[in-house]
Amino acid sequence: MSAFKTLDDIGDVRGKVVLVRVDLNLPMQDGAVTDDTRVQAAKPTILELADKGAKVLLLAHFGRPKGERVSTQSLSMVIGAVEQVLGREVMFVSEIAGPVVKQVVGILPEGGIACLENTRFWKGEEKNDPELVKAIAANADIYVNDAFSAAHRAHATTEGLAHVLPAYAGRSMQAELEALGKALDHPEHPVSAVVGGAKVSSKLDVLKHLVGKVDHLIIGGGMANTFLAARGVDVGKSLCEHDLAPTAEAILDAADASGCTVHLPYDVVVSKEFAANPPSLRTCNVHEVAADEMILDVGPAATEALADVLKVCKTLVWNGPLGAFETTPFDTATVALARTAAALTREGSLVSVAGGGDTVAALSHAGVAGDFTYVSTAGGAFLEWMEGRVLPGVAALEA
Ligand code: ADP
Ligand code: MG
Repeated sequence: MSAFKTLDDIGDVRGKVVLVRVDLNLPMQDGAVTDDTRVQAAKPTILELADKGAKVLLLAHFGRPKGERVSTQSLSMVIGAVEQVLGREVMFVSEIAGPVVKQVVGILPEGGIACLENTRFWKGEEKNDPELVKAIAANADIYVNDAFSAAHRAHATTEGLAHVLPAYAGRSMQAELEALGKALDHPEHPVSAVVGGAKVSSKLDVLKHLVGKVDHLIIGGGMANTFLAARGVDVGKSLCEHDLAPTAEAILDAADASGCTVHLPYDVVVSKEFAANPPSLRTCNVHEVAADEMILDVGPAATEALADVLKVCKTLVWNGPLGAFETTPFDTATVALARTAAALTREGSLVSVAGGGDTVAALSHAGVAGDFTYVSTAGGAFLEWMEGRVLPGVAALEA
């Protein structure tokens, strides 16, 4: 069904040199890896290829060294964590092309794994320089991309290599593309989208794209205030981008024109100060927000109505929390709706896909990240996909 090739199509890889682009941009503190989720994600692909007898060369970037060798950004620092997750020995190579890599390929046994240096140490990486692409490809037979999170960049190791070597999606890339495809490209209708978060300005393209795609657009978070204000509601001292009122109107008109129902909160949780459990906390109708109050969460009546929307939907795509969820009790609506979505997913009536840094944190906080059909940790790439953009790293696999 998909237009890209996967490891199912790769054939016999015994003795072949396979470049595997992975995400090893791991969070670190005081020289130690603090979260190995990204290695876990790449593990099935790496081990599948190694177990089939391939010589696996890992390619990844780390930080922003801007084309210089920066010793504090060497991938040698994450090798220990990678070995631990894989349960295999991983040879570190301080180059990505040339005779040193050639030598490594010569001594690496079938099923052996090596990790090449931070690709961004070379200027040609971010420039997608054909010479660098050629030099990297010269030591290999096959290219596998398993880094969806870097697929919104047309770099040498995320895009260029796919044009000069037989190219395949790794298992984690495949899972991401299949989940995203089910959520927006060929979803079962009705489809609802939850878009929340702080600002309309950061998600204008997301909103514009979604109104033409989904049946229900649920707008929450700070950005709902901008829409409410555009409709003439006095939002007091809420976070609000008043200058975007015309844009918000245009989005609402576009939704109308394409038969997309927009859901804005009609009751809200407000407070005079932004603090946990503030004394001035109260719930009110959106038309009753006082001049010195700010909206910090969707109210209970609206949250219940949103749950009813999800109950009639077959598909949900979610980016952005409904309230200032980091501070109690402004996590209430987000947690409640997330749990509804999780329950519907468990029952099998909803395909639910979510992504975004704070969204993933909010779902984990609600204890339901594991109950969604798919939770993307891809950040920028996920948002660009929500904007309907073609991701160069994905397009190159489909070519
Ligand atoms: P993501 O990282 O998932 O894309 P965003 O970064 O767009 O999400 O938005 C998350 C932020 O939005 C959170 O820090 C949250 O506190 C904030 N936010 C949500 N609702 C409100 C609100 N009503 N007022 C102020 N900030 C809000
Ligand atoms: Mg964020």
